[in-house]
Amino acid sequence: MIKTKKQGLLIVISAPSGAGKGTIINKMLEKNNNLWLSVSATSRPMRTNDIEGKTYYFYTKEEFENKIKENYFLEYASYADNYYGTPKKYIQEHLNNGEDVILEIEIQGAMQVKKLIPEALFVFIMPPSLKELKKRLVSRGTDTKEKILERFKIAYQEMNEVTKYNYVVVNDEIEIAADKILSIIKSEKCRVDRIEEVFLNTEEEYMHEMLIDKDLDNNSLEIN
Ligand code: 5GP
Repeated sequence: MIKTKKQGLLIVISAPSGAGKGTIINKMLEKNNNLWLSVSATSRPMRTNDIEGKTYYFYTKEEFENKIKENYFLEYASYADNYYGTPKKYIQEHLNNGEDVILEIEIQGAMQVKKLIPEALFVFIMPPSLKELKKRLVSRGTDTKEKILERFKIAYQEMNEVTKYNYVVVNDEIEIAADKILSIIKSEKCRVDRIEEVFLNTEEEYMHEMLIDKDLDNNSLEIN
């Protein structure tokens, strides 16, 4: 009786650096194979666990700026002295395929997407506490002390932006946080604005005609 839109959902996930969003998103990808994670481009240096084309597409600042001019990005932002951006290509293709597309991006970029695609789903992941956030940033051991401090400051500012999102999930435990976001996605799919059409099949049309004719004897309402 109800035909819902085949188009997938665009899900924007932000979190302060160190809140554990990468781990949560990996858990979500393990649990739901209809999700597609967009690979961003960046001008930041590669870290030891980075893989070109998998964690990011790595460009020099100049290359990135050329791509901006070419209108290559859905959104982009400068964050901690580096560029980050979402390549436009592939996103629409995956959405048209009915896959749900995840953008794991920071707040300035998320707000650009909100302007362009207000019907997207905006989820913010919070660390359990500032103390835990600091511990995670330090224990990552991939950045210099100055970089950690800078990221910690930015993270604190970012936590005040949570109200710009539709949902907030606290990352106390990865498994639970991942399940919460997957439930949010499921609920979103039940929203009435995702209905494309309410229709009657042949039998239902017949039943409807009978109702209009007020011919409500038992036989006329029988559906096999
Ligand atoms: P990191 O350097 O730790 O990998 O990422 C730093 C920040 O950049 C994170 O908050 C991450 O979500 C964000 N980020 C990653 N890709 C993109 C992107 O394509 N666009 C924007 N605006 N932010 C991004």
